[in-house]
Amino acid sequence: MDSRKRIPLAAPNITDRELEAVAEVLRSGTLSLGPKLAEFEERFAGYIGTRHAIGVSSGTAGLHLCVIALGIGAGDRVMTTPFSFIASTNAVVYEQAIPVFVDIDPLTLNLDPARVEEAARKGAKAILAVDIFGLPAEWDGLREIARRFDLSVIEDSCEALGATYKGRAAGSLGQVGVFGFYPNKQVTTGEGGMIVTDDDRIARVCRALRNQGRWEQAGWVEHELLGFNYRLDELSCALGIVQLERLGETQAQRERVARWYHERLRDLEAVELLPTVPGLTRSWFVYVIRLRPPLGQEARDRTMAALREQGVECADYFAPIHLQPVYQRRFGYRRGDFPVTEDIAGRSLALPFFAHMSESQVDEVVRTLKSVLTRSTSRATGA
Ligand SMILES: *Cc1c(COP(=O)(O)O)cnc(C)c1O
Repeated sequence: MDSRKRIPLAAPNITDRELEAVAEVLRSGTLSLGPKLAEFEERFAGYIGTRHAIGVSSGTAGLHLCVIALGIGAGDRVMTTPFSFIASTNAVVYEQAIPVFVDIDPLTLNLDPARVEEAARKGAKAILAVDIFGLPAEWDGLREIARRFDLSVIEDSCEALGATYKGRAAGSLGQVGVFGFYPNKQVTTGEGGMIVTDDDRIARVCRALRNQGRWEQAGWVEHELLGFNYRLDELSCALGIVQLERLGETQAQRERVARWYHERLRDLEAVELLPTVPGLTRSWFVYVIRLRPPLGQEARDRTMAALREQGVECADYFAPIHLQPVYQRRFGYRRGDFPVTEDIAGRSLALPFFAHMSESQVDEVVRTLKSVLTRSTSRATGA
């Protein structure tokens, strides 16, 4: 048995301040729809620079409400990326709209505007773009297409809190943006999410929909819309307020860990690293590397298995959405439909990455990776 401690893929960064803030809510007796929700929303809107922020129970719930608020429904075509966490596409399918996948740019791993334009010519109602791995999508291009084809625009910024596109905050680049606060995100509330927008109507509808379809000023049993319970409770909000205050600090820590990895991996022949893109700042969410061809999916899978065996957690971020069984069954997608996504996805793996990761943990991951790769590489080349 391995006596060394496993290095986790991700870990929340929680201090005594978060513990105290949550305990204070418990002592207050108000556990939902209280002052912490209003405070978290106000601070969050201030941070992003939008008129409104609406707290919801998860990023997925937030995306779902945006789809409804924009009037996207049965049979509407929504262009989106197959290289994402499945929630971004599920939100479209919940409302019987049709996801129209568009392949990605192999450099940024975000939607390729040229291909989006091609797809828009065949008819579409909306773009749902994702800022993947904390890097904003090509928003100038996407917004221009949206304007020309009169499309609604949702920004899934669940991985990009703190990122900027030409000086503007991720989340504020579409008509409406969504953040998620799952424990591996830059800010966590356990489970939780936030919708941000400058649009008064979208904000009002989302506020009603998260709270069983009641307008804000309506009575408790007066339901205008078919709503949901997608509320964010007071404990989560108290946690989120402190996490948001500490975001600058944890972001700097994450950048430092990314730099440690970069310095140790940049000269390694067998791997490709995430790029920096002029004008865009990535908010570090996950540390994803790719094996370099001719190494492919088989070598990647062997590498992941060997890393895990040696106590280094890792994950295949992301498996293409169109190849998930539920999507293959429903829409008939096949391998080969989105070749750039499939190629990138097959060679990618996420390494352990969290704010308080130590330099010696990074050393340990890199040492293990190098020894594992030496074996994978020699097998792939038949040496
Ligand atoms: C995390 C994530 C979500 C969903 O967030 P949850 O809070 O887990 O529901 C949506 N889209 C992307 C791209 C994500 O990474």
